[in-house]
Amino acid sequence: MDSINKLFDLAKQTRLNAYAPYSNFKVGAAILTSGGKFYTGCNVENASYPCGTCAEAGAVAAMIADGETEIGEILIIADTDCILPCGNCLQKIAEFGHKDTLIHSADTKKVVKTQTLKDLLPQSFVLKEK
Ligand SMILES: [Zn+2]
Repeated sequence: MDSINKLFDLAKQTRLNAYAPYSNFKVGAAILTSGGKFYTGCNVENASYPCGTCAEAGAVAAMIADGETEIGEILIIADTDCILPCGNCLQKIAEFGHKDTLIHSADTKKVVKTQTLKDLLPQSFVLKEK
C-alpha cells in the first residue's frame, strides 16, 4: 500500500471518532513523517467553542508526543468537497513541515486535491529558518 492510500485509510477511520456534537462536521487527519511514521487526529469540539481543537492539531500533538518533529505529508478528510486546513493549522504544519510538505484534501471517497504548504501558506511566521 503506498503512503497516500495509508494516509487516506487512517484519516478516514480516525474521522469516525471525531467529537463534533455541535457542528456535526467530523474531520480526520493523518500525518506521515519524513522518517516514515504515521499519526492521526480528529476534531474535538467543546461546549465552550474556542476550546475545541482541529484534527490536524491532534495529529501534530500525537507526533510530537512520540518524539517525531518533521511532517512529510498530511491528509485531511471530511464529508465536503475540498477540506483545507484552517489558518491556525497551516501555521502548525509550517512549524514542523517545509515549503514542499504535501497537504492532501480528501472527501470520504478519495483524495480530491494535493497542494504544498507553500501553495496554501506562502509566507508563514518563523523564528528560525529551516
Ligand atoms: Zn485547524
